Amino acid sequence: MLASRKQAISNCQLCKLWEGRIKLVYGQGNPDANMMLIGEGPGAEENKTGQAFVGKAGQLLTKMLKAINLEREEVFIANIVKCRPPGNRDPEPDERQACLPYLLEQIEIIQPQILLLLGKVAGNTILETQLSLTKMREQVFLFRNIPTYVSYHPSALLHNPQWKRPAWEDLQKVRDHYFSLSAKPK
Ligand code: SF4
Repeated sequence: MLASRKQAISNCQLCKLWEGRIKLVYGQGNPDANMMLIGEGPGAEENKTGQAFVGKAGQLLTKMLKAINLEREEVFIANIVKCRPPGNRDPEPDERQACLPYLLEQIEIIQPQILLLLGKVAGNTILETQLSLTKMREQVFLFRNIPTYVSYHPSALLHNPQWKRPAWEDLQKVRDHYFSLSAKPK
C-alpha cells in the first residue's frame, strides 16, 4: 500500500519544491509501526538518496532511538514535506499544506499509536498551532486520537548541544509510553 502510494506521487508537482527534487523522500520504516517520527523536510543527502534522515541529523536520530532501545526499522520516519526546500530553509506554509495530505494518508495507513514530531515546523504544522517548541514540549497532544509528543529536531541538537539533556528527558517520556503499549492488533 505504502509502496504503491510512493510510486503514485513520485512526480508530484503540487508545490514549487519539486523544482529542486532529485528524489522524492517518501519516508521509510516499518509499515506496521507503533510509532511514527515526523521531521521537517529532506536535506541534501536525503534528496540524493530518497531516504529520510540519512545525513548527520539522521545519524544522530539513529543514536537517539538506540538510546531508548529502538532500531530505526521498528518505527516509521517521514517529513512534513517530501521534497527538499532549497538551502534547507523551512518549508513555506503553502508547501506544507500542499504536501500534508500525503503525510496524513501515511498516518491513516500505518495507524501508529504514538507520534513524535521533531522540531517546531513539524509541531506547528500537524497540531495547527503557533505555540513555541518549548510550550509544545510541555504537553502530550492528541492528534486524531493518537498521543503526540513534540521534541527537538536532531539537526537543532547538532548545533545546540545544550539541548541534548532536555531532548533526552523528552525521549525518556516517549520510551516509557512506547514500551507500555500492548501489541498492535493485526
Ligand atoms: S513537497 Fe510534496 S507537495 Fe511539494 S512537490 Fe514535493 S511531494 Fe509534491
